[in-house]
Amino acid sequence: MAGLSAAWHLQNAGFTTTVFEKNSEVGGRTISIKKDGYIMDPGAITLSPAYKETLQLLHETGAGAMRVHTQPVLAIARDEILHYIDLSKIVSSGLKTGFLSLGAKLKLFRIVPTLLRYWSKCDFEDMAQLEVLDIENCESFAIRKLGKEIHDYLVDPVIRMNMFSSTKTSSAVDIIWLMKMFSGAEFVQIKGGMGALSENIAAQLGDIRLNARVEKIEMIHNQVVLQVDGEAHNFDAAVIAIPPELALNIAPWMSGRQRKWFDKIKGVPSLTVHVGLKSRPDSPASLVMVPGIEAKDVLGIVLEHNKCPGRAPEGKGLIALHMTGEWAETQQDLDDLQVAHNALDTVKPFMGDLKDQVEMVNLHNWEYVDHERYVGVYKSLTKARPEFMDGRVTFAGEFISAGIEGAVICGRRCAEALTRE
Ligand SMILES: Cc1cc2nc3c(=O)[nH]c(=O)nc-3n(C[C@H](O)[C@H](O)[C@H](O)COP(=O)(O)OP(=O)(O)OC[C@H]3O[C@@H](n4cnc5c(N)ncnc54)[C@H](O)[C@@H]3O)c2cc1C
Repeated sequence: MAGLSAAWHLQNAGFTTTVFEKNSEVGGRTISIKKDGYIMDPGAITLSPAYKETLQLLHETGAGAMRVHTQPVLAIARDEILHYIDLSKIVSSGLKTGFLSLGAKLKLFRIVPTLLRYWSKCDFEDMAQLEVLDIENCESFAIRKLGKEIHDYLVDPVIRMNMFSSTKTSSAVDIIWLMKMFSGAEFVQIKGGMGALSENIAAQLGDIRLNARVEKIEMIHNQVVLQVDGEAHNFDAAVIAIPPELALNIAPWMSGRQRKWFDKIKGVPSLTVHVGLKSRPDSPASLVMVPGIEAKDVLGIVLEHNKCPGRAPEGKGLIALHMTGEWAETQQDLDDLQVAHNALDTVKPFMGDLKDQVEMVNLHNWEYVDHERYVGVYKSLTKARPEFMDGRVTFAGEFISAGIEGAVICGRRCAEALTRE
């Protein structure tokens, strides 16, 4: 999304662009897979109404009608039971829900002063505005401010589902970011799957080269030279829109604060297990948040047939289990059906036994689902960030501000920086 956004904005500013994509399709972590009548989103799950720039991009590329607004019901697993929160009636359903004790619910109000203070500073354009909160990890912030019960049954599952890591490896800043993302009380889905978002932007771009891996990028005699599958391509400028570890491989000359920042970013792996079911489980939830103390191997569950209409054939179910990288490693030698059965076993206590319902399986391995956000990541970003967009080789990605909106904004900013050059 960062690369596509950069190309779209450069094209609009009158430049000729070429997009090199190593895979056989565009989209990276915003893709969909169609199989046996199911439409699966192995990567990005949803847009938020707070994603103003992504929604604007969708509109500008002529696909505004692809938006589907849904008011999701969320579930949180506690003591082997699913407890529900209807986002459209957040206060009443929050008061009724049983996943937090009354004492814990009252403690939730302690977050209000922090929210009032930092809400307007939580800007997808520049998360570094929240750097004053970036002095402790999520775990310590949540336990200190809200207590252990809220940490274990609210903050931890929300971080696991959204950051694909733990509260230990997320910054306190991420709590505020996530509250902003969910604040719209609705999800924005894309007809035909999240991948239709990236495919639609790509369809408006002039030159997209698929199965084209960039191996190296360097400045030679005032030209930006890309080595792509053994062939050199000369350009006036480039946007590198790939995760930091990969960017370091193709731009080993990177230096200064940017190098220091990229060097410290550690990617997190994950496995998405999609399971097509003969019938729909009896649950209204779109997302099931799973506290680590309930099931440590599963980061979260998406009931895709509830998330958006049209994702599963009539009457059938489709669920996605997002599994930890550690768990995925233990499954490497097994066939897909066995992996799906094992994944379903990890959630059996609160989802019931769904194994005999399985009629389709799809596994998608992410070497880099997201990255850890160590304490200080946003603080050091303030210093390093100007270097990302300095010169004729710039760097874009959701590492600057999280999620699709972060990627889209960052791509646009790279395009603007190059246009000024
Ligand atoms: C399971 C999952 C769930 C998510 N849920 C959400 C969500 O609900 N909401 C949300 O906002 N975000 C979500 N995200 C995050 C979102 O998908 C990303 O923030 C966004 O897609 C990042 O875009 P990007 O352009 O920065 O990186 P990427 O999507 O990783 O794109 C990088 C692209 O570069 C290509 N590439 C890499 N190396 C090379 C090379 N050497 N040469 C050529 N091409 C190369 C890759 O193939 C890829 O297409 C989720 C991600 C995952 C994986």
